Amino acid sequence: MNTLTLSKNTNSYESSLFYNYDCKKDYFDCLLSSYRFRGNMNGESLCFILTSNGFAHRDTAQKLEDIFEEVCSSEVPKAIHTECLLTDSLGESRWYAASFSCAVPKTNIIITFTDINDELAAFGKESEKDKLTGLCSRSVFCRKAEAAVADARKEFAMIYFDILRFKAINDIFGMEKGDALLKEIGRVITDFDEERCFGCRIDSDRFVVFVDMTSSMPEIFIDKLSKTLADYDLPFEITFNAGIFLTDGEVLPAEAMIDRAILAQSAIKGRYTVKFRYFTESMRNEMLGEQEITGMMATALAEKHFIMYYQPQYDHSTGTITGAEALVRWSHPERGIIAPGVFIPIFEKNGFITVLDFYVFEEVCAFLRRCIDRNLPVVPVSSNFSRYDIFQPDFVEQLERIRKKYNIPVEYLRIEITESSVLGGSQTVNEIIGRLHSCGYIVEMDDFGSGYSSLNVLKDIDLDLIKLDMDFLSEDENGKGSTILSAVVRMAKKLDISVIAEGVETVGQADFLKDIGCDIIQGYYYSKPLPESNYAELVSSASIAQAIAYQ
Ligand code: C2E
Ligand code: MG
Ligand code: MG
Repeated sequence: MNTLTLSKNTNSYESSLFYNYDCKKDYFDCLLSSYRFRGNMNGESLCFILTSNGFAHRDTAQKLEDIFEEVCSSEVPKAIHTECLLTDSLGESRWYAASFSCAVPKTNIIITFTDINDELAAFGKESEKDKLTGLCSRSVFCRKAEAAVADARKEFAMIYFDILRFKAINDIFGMEKGDALLKEIGRVITDFDEERCFGCRIDSDRFVVFVDMTSSMPEIFIDKLSKTLADYDLPFEITFNAGIFLTDGEVLPAEAMIDRAILAQSAIKGRYTVKFRYFTESMRNEMLGEQEITGMMATALAEKHFIMYYQPQYDHSTGTITGAEALVRWSHPERGIIAPGVFIPIFEKNGFITVLDFYVFEEVCAFLRRCIDRNLPVVPVSSNFSRYDIFQPDFVEQLERIRKKYNIPVEYLRIEITESSVLGGSQTVNEIIGRLHSCGYIVEMDDFGSGYSSLNVLKDIDLDLIKLDMDFLSEDENGKGSTILSAVVRMAKKLDISVIAEGVETVGQADFLKDIGCDIIQGYYYSKPLPESNYAELVSSASIAQAIAYQ
């Protein structure tokens, strides 16, 4: 049987290529005499064939394979059209319109590639332009950028930017002024270097500019834009954030270049003082890592891969256990235990944190119920809640629903919030704390002192307890940190707020804390966070405090 082969003897220019793929025989046939490949796929992916034949770039080949697979597996007649940059038999990169169609499902797929390079000449036509700025359309922009990269193999910069608080400009000064500003930006782009720079408005106030690096460094463009906006006649500070991707000899589809520039911009988005950032591969790896975690999180929850560790808290003056903090871990089937520092920030971004935090709270309640039912000793357990959770309108109701489901006395459950929650407004936070108090919960402020408004937090927020992180003392060479810590403990006591020190690693730290009036300690000095069973064992064998309140 024939293996799919690349024709070597075609030296004529192909304006169209027609293929028939027989699904049952897994056989590609070319419907014209000048063919690129013909034969059996022999289990190879289309992506592999297209790239190994030098017909298409990897990303383009992958896109074509995805379409091919979709049409092949369709249960109904299907046709999908796309445009792609391919290398013709003379070795030249050209634009083709590609079409994959199947009239009778799972029989024959007709695939055509039609040269559309002449359409590129359409650039400049009125219909292809953005009416407001006169810049070219996104599709023309992309084609031009890809043609430039493929032909010249020079270095280019893809710059993406948007205006900070553009909506406010529209709201305050009206749409006309907003439009005039966009036109001015269009002018900056067209006037910049007509020969070697072109741009388009993606939508609203979002622009992309493609710059030939041989003549115009992207930073010269950024500078020009900054100056124009700084001098712009509006009583409003107009500035922008840009992301820059440098091609560095790599041939990528234009959309991929835009994505990378956007990714670079997202690292500084919203910051007035930083105008631009270059794309780095580590940004992409981070983004892919985030996407991977996001893609796995729901399954991990359903399959109970989030597991609980408990770190006991000790009274250093008596050596008894007074409580514990529940700390989540992701027990990944291949990667092992993943620390919360890896996934919590991602869940805070994608909103999954609230689902996870209620899950953790329910796991804590279920654990306490098992202990109570077995007559095992129980101490209060604190659960961490992100600032995104506590502003849920039914936050307290949800906690109560879970607590009541397991019938746990409220004094065994404590709520840890972070200083960043106060960004939501101290009055709002106090209302939530008031509702928690009326149900009987103790509310703790985690990582006290890590934010910038700790004194205001003490003054304004109705807290029961603050948790001091010993990290505060990590670089305390002149002893100022110890002085501040002892003042904070004194102040808290006067305000009737309890204090726990966390991250306590040495007996020296523990003794110092006791001396300044902070007896309750959580840290490696006494115990690391323990898996549930080890923690239950520890609590059963250790002496535990009788009194539940820390006062
Ligand atoms: P956190 O709430 O401040 O928890 C204390 C962290 O300090 C824990 O890290 C704990 O293992 C660590 N630690 C305890 N004692 C010591 C010590 O003596 N030395 C040092 N160097 N570290 C110590 P972990 O478990 O990695 O958790 C990190 C953070 O992740 C937590 O900080 C918390 O902010 C977050 N987190 C953990 N579980 C949850 C959760 O269920 N929900 C939410 N929203 N956040 C969670
Ligand atoms: Mg905590
Ligand atoms: Mg903490």
